[in-house]
Amino acid sequence: MMAAGIAGSRGKRVLLLEKNKKLGEKLKITGGGRCNITNAEFNTREFLKNYGKSGKFLYSPFSQFSAKDTFEFFEKLGLPLVVQSRKRAFPHTGRAMDVFLALEKYLQKGGVVCKTNARVSKILSENGRGGGERTCGRRITGVVAGGVKYTADSFIFSTGGISHPETGSTGDGFDFLRKLGHTVKDPTPTIVPIAVKEDWVKSLAGVSLSFMKITFYADGQIVLGTSDDDVHLWTRSAPVDGIKKFAKKGKILFTHFGISGPLILNSAKEVADLLEGGEVTALIDAYPDTDHGALEKKIIKVFDANKNKMLKNIFKEIVPLGMNDAILSLLGQIDFDAKVHSVTKEERKQIVDLLKALPLTVTGLMGYDRAVVADGGITLKEIDMKTMRSSLYENLYVTGDLLDIVRPSGGFSLQLCWTTGFVAGTSC
Ligand SMILES: Cc1cc2nc3c(=O)[nH]c(=O)nc-3n(C[C@H](O)[C@H](O)[C@H](O)COP(=O)(O)OP(=O)(O)OC[C@H]3O[C@@H](n4cnc5c(N)ncnc54)[C@H](O)[C@@H]3O)c2cc1C
Repeated sequence: MMAAGIAGSRGKRVLLLEKNKKLGEKLKITGGGRCNITNAEFNTREFLKNYGKSGKFLYSPFSQFSAKDTFEFFEKLGLPLVVQSRKRAFPHTGRAMDVFLALEKYLQKGGVVCKTNARVSKILSENGRGGGERTCGRRITGVVAGGVKYTADSFIFSTGGISHPETGSTGDGFDFLRKLGHTVKDPTPTIVPIAVKEDWVKSLAGVSLSFMKITFYADGQIVLGTSDDDVHLWTRSAPVDGIKKFAKKGKILFTHFGISGPLILNSAKEVADLLEGGEVTALIDAYPDTDHGALEKKIIKVFDANKNKMLKNIFKEIVPLGMNDAILSLLGQIDFDAKVHSVTKEERKQIVDLLKALPLTVTGLMGYDRAVVADGGITLKEIDMKTMRSSLYENLYVTGDLLDIVRPSGGFSLQLCWTTGFVAGTSC
């Protein structure tokens, strides 16, 4: 949409072919529906550090359209942006839909013709005039969509990657580019452990617990009024309505960096999606099959049988095996040297609440450089980054998720789309 709109604004005749009934289906679900549109790091050098090794390829496109330009671009379209924690920027309305509507208007203004329900199934090309391996002069001559051949002077591929295929990104562009002779790296599957901030988890390294429930929360919708992480953690245990979350039950393995085990590995992809929306936190329920009331009764029974013992000496009878010290460290305000009979009702409730909701703050996915949420695509070595033009086809341009650029969450994926879309739309 960006590339087409920019080309249209330059007076080009543009046809946008979209296989879905509507444009921008993925855009509409970004950032948990709020669209983390970019990151307000206005120092481009700093900004590009987020793209690892690809950063050095991006100076040229970012010198043409940076995060600051994204702010100005959307402001001009009547959609000012606001900055929240970790410099994440969102439309001021808090709605991804408004980003879509702004771009749709921009397309109309540029006279872009949009044809939906038009899945491109074939790319037509000609071999050009020769010139060795890096044949210059090879051209795309047309594309076929719904049995109709479309020809043009230039072609921009913006078909996205393969995450959330229900939004239309099913990897068609990867196939097209491969068939055309480009090198395309497969995306890394997101089956990885999860890194967390809390030290109590790290103190449990090596402990594995079989029947746990973990619920992940995207705090994207909560505007944090405090920088005090602990306050935030505890207020989070009563999530607000509508907050995005998911829960799974099974075995959790604690490690020196966070949590792992099958349950966690299989949650990583969804956690990656939540990370796109903002802070991700989690609560572990150590007794998923026992409700608060039943757990409290169980604890009372243990307390009644051990009234005159020190709390710390009987604590292992009420917490899962191996978690004793970790739980004690989280209940710092309770006197564990006191006799069990002196434990107050409030303190007992606190213990129950904690066992039902052990707090975690996700800092990223392991095995990635920071909280990387995506990679895979055409190698940047085969793209002229000044123009986003293919090095093999003189009239082919490539943008967005089709590019192999490792990136973290935080608005860095969409900024790539705005930047590369701008450059392709300007150069074609
Ligand atoms: C759940 C989720 C949340 C996200 N949230 C954020 C966020 O808040 N911030 C952020 O920076 N990034 C976010 N991202 C990443 C961001 O959405 C992508 O980087 C971005 O949408 C990629 O844009 P694109 O134009 O390259 O491809 P896409 O948005 O995937 O669009 C590709 C389009 O091409 C169409 N298409 C595909 N094949 C064909 C074909 N053969 N013929 C015709 N049309 C075709 C598709 O239907 C689709 O409409 C999120 C991703 C996900 C999955």
